[in-house]
Parts: sequence; structure tokens; C-alpha cells
Amino acid sequence: MKILQLCVGMVGTNCYIVYDEATMLGAVIDPGDNAPAILAEIERAGVKVEWILLTHGHFDHILAVGDVQAATGARLAIHKDDLWMLTPESLSASMRSFGMPRSRYTQLQPDLLAEEGSTVEIGGLTAEYLHTPGHTPGSSCIRMGNVLFTGDTLFRHECGRCDLAGGDFDKMLRSLARLRDLPGDYTVLPGHDAASTLEDERRWNPYMRQAGGR
Ligand SMILES: [Zn+2]
Ligand SMILES: [Zn+2]
Repeated sequence: MKILQLCVGMVGTNCYIVYDEATMLGAVIDPGDNAPAILAEIERAGVKVEWILLTHGHFDHILAVGDVQAATGARLAIHKDDLWMLTPESLSASMRSFGMPRSRYTQLQPDLLAEEGSTVEIGGLTAEYLHTPGHTPGSSCIRMGNVLFTGDTLFRHECGRCDLAGGDFDKMLRSLARLRDLPGDYTVLPGHDAASTLEDERRWNPYMRQAGGR
């Protein structure tokens, strides 16, 4: 499994291109903006993108989905509880809450409405949706091998905000407890800012520590 990372858009969103080096089939996680840069990276690496996997429905994770889909023919997956966020109205509201003007956007049509435990096969790789609500109702971590793509649920020594539409801090704490209690260690690749490991978060993340004893 090989992972390429780009930082895109007005709020610095991490977009990841993950692929299976044996088959060169891959997925794009959270194409948040700047489709030309994402497509150039896909082209440069020689990846055939079969899926776009979203950790949640906020604008800064989805604005380039349409263009990446148009160029690659990739299918789209998002947790079913964030489907409501893909309407132009919800997108505008989510951009307004960041003081941003609305940008060009056409309604997205997911091919997979993921639920807890839903999996997608990409070449020899398996991506699994772990439902971790709190930041948004459908926020999910995507598990691939020993990597967790945590979206805006878990950041390095931080967690995502819960004061936007559909946010719920109690659910966030339960989700963080759930991640903490996964067996073993994982590389944590979040939707913003620096990478971490689950073991480092168990030790140092104040919200994960607040999430109840084990
Ligand atoms: Zn978000
Ligand atoms: Zn974000």
C-alpha cells in the first residue's frame, strides 16, 4: 500500500491518494479542493482511481469530488448519515459558517452509502468504514491495513469541532473511546494537520483521555 498526500484548499485539508502497488488501483480520500493538483498527482503516479472515499460531508473535503469523478470515472462512498450534507444548500451553509463564498458545485450522487463495517475492495486493498460520529453525524474513520484515515474526528492531540451543524460532543467522546480501544497501533492520517499514531494519541490526546477510563 502506497499513500500520497496533498494539502488542498482554503482551510488546508489533507487529501490522500492510496493505491495498491501490485495492481496500481487506488482510491482518493477527501478530494477537498484543487482537482488539477490531485489529478496531476494521480497521473504522475500512474494510478487508476476506482473509488473516492469521503470521511464526512464538509465542503473542505468534497469540493473536488465532481472534477475528480469526471476525470477518473471513480465511484463515490460516504457514510449514509452525511448524505444530507451533499446538497448545494447544506454545502453553502457549511461554507458560510467558515465565512467563505459559495463555489461552483453540483449535487453529488454517492454509489455507496456506507454503514458501520462497510468495505470497499481496491485491488488487493480493503477499506473499511468505522462510524465515528461527533464532528458530523456520518463522520467515519477509514481503516486500510495499519492506517486510520481519521478525517475531522481525530487530529494530532486534538479532535474535530462539534459546534457545526450535526455536531455532538458526547458522540465525539464515545467515538474517541472507541478508537482508543481498538487493539494494536495504527498510523493516524487526519483530515488536517500532522500525522500521528494511535498509541501517541492514547497517551497525549486530552479528548481521548477525557473519553472515559479503560
Ligand atoms: Zn469537517
Ligand atoms: Zn475539514
